[in-house]
Amino acid sequence: MARGRPGFPLRAGPCPAGVGRFARLEVVTQRVEQSQAWFERATTVTPGGVNSPVRAFSAVGGTPRFMVRGEGAYLTDADGSRYVDLVSSWGPMILGHAHPDVVAAVREAATSGLSFGTPTTGEVELAEEIIARVEPVEQIRLVNSGTEATMSAIRLARGHTGRGKIIKFAGCYHGHVDALLAQAGSGVATLGLPTSPGVTGAQAADTIVLPYNDLDAVRRAFAENPDSIAAIITEAAPGNMGAIPPRQDFNAGLRDLAHEHGALLIVDEVMTGFRVSASGWFGVEAVPGDLYTFGKVMSGGLPAAAFGGRAEVMARLAPNGPVYQAGTLSGNPVAVAAGLATLRAADDAVYRALDANSQRLGALLGEALTAAGVAHTVSYAGNLLSVFFTEAPVHDYAGATAAESWRFPAFFHALLDHGVYAPPSAFEAWFVNAAMDDAAFETIEAALPHAARAAAAAERPA
Ligand SMILES: *Cc1c(COP(=O)(O)O)cnc(C)c1O
Repeated sequence: MARGRPGFPLRAGPCPAGVGRFARLEVVTQRVEQSQAWFERATTVTPGGVNSPVRAFSAVGGTPRFMVRGEGAYLTDADGSRYVDLVSSWGPMILGHAHPDVVAAVREAATSGLSFGTPTTGEVELAEEIIARVEPVEQIRLVNSGTEATMSAIRLARGHTGRGKIIKFAGCYHGHVDALLAQAGSGVATLGLPTSPGVTGAQAADTIVLPYNDLDAVRRAFAENPDSIAAIITEAAPGNMGAIPPRQDFNAGLRDLAHEHGALLIVDEVMTGFRVSASGWFGVEAVPGDLYTFGKVMSGGLPAAAFGGRAEVMARLAPNGPVYQAGTLSGNPVAVAAGLATLRAADDAVYRALDANSQRLGALLGEALTAAGVAHTVSYAGNLLSVFFTEAPVHDYAGATAAESWRFPAFFHALLDHGVYAPPSAFEAWFVNAAMDDAAFETIEAALPHAARAAAAAERPA
């Protein structure tokens, strides 16, 4: 099991017997030859061997697993190892992998033609489904990724208000839109990048980055930039610096301040949408925004996303209005079928299961880390959760980065070695799905004592 991971000694057998109820140990002997061979081929033809940075395991070291199959709560890699999947494709797979209804819908759509470049019936039904779930959304435009959704929403907000500046929050991730990469979360946080080369000074200058959960900072920004801020964009509840809930009045305060100053509130629900409730974070807090962005769950795992909002604002979009936005494959019939089938299958029972699975996972994480004496906080934003290696409550990006994240690689790899695929970064949310069964939780429960002890034994880098 050659892994070339400095600082993490290879372990041949199970780690020493655990305490109390965790004493039941599972021995997993994992091979990575196939993944390693594929990773070497991949790095020749693709930068870093991956098509999205966090997949490369840069922050945790070791060999990224090349997955070949997903069924329900499980993934299987190229070497035949099976994992309980706590990433769920970074959110979309709320029903678990290869859900029969979704697969059937995709198969049926595919056999009727893959793309027409004309209006189709399915895209109307998907728009209706989203509008029915999220009350402030009166009209929807479908796009192909969350990045496209936020980019388009910002252009629309600027076109609508005739202003240039945008407020975003440190640690929030809104896709790799130029203007939104400043102090972004997700992979940008994982790699420790302040921003990205290739973003022009003008684009960066139009972006005002403020600490999350700090309404006074927003108030000051409006006072210092009169009549020039087009919009505030915020994650409805951040999941890209770990899961961090908004303070009680934060989102309502953002809406009030935006409106007081003639700006729009763009609520990014790409991660929370149709996951934390049937109507996303709006179903949790009911603070209406002006524009919304969606992706992930609404795509069912295929490339589809959307932005939408008040009809009066959406009316500025081409072909009705002058703000241009388009897409050759937007509203693709196969992607729409997957998204629609996923939303239709996501009934109350599914949302109850997501909430219960999130609580059950969080409790197991907390128990194992407490037993191993590791300072930690299990942080929830709805049923999104993550672990911060600190006892201090985490309200913003500064708090997230102050935690002992250097414990995470050892924690992550011990989970992986024992058949649990957690997000390969301390700054990502953990995503449960409704297919998780008792067997999945038994695997997690058996893996966690090893991981907690590995986290306890990790050494602070010099
Ligand atoms: C994932 C994500 C995006 C970007 O979506 P992509 O489909 O990866 O481009 C935007 N905003 C939030 C909140 C996200 O979690």
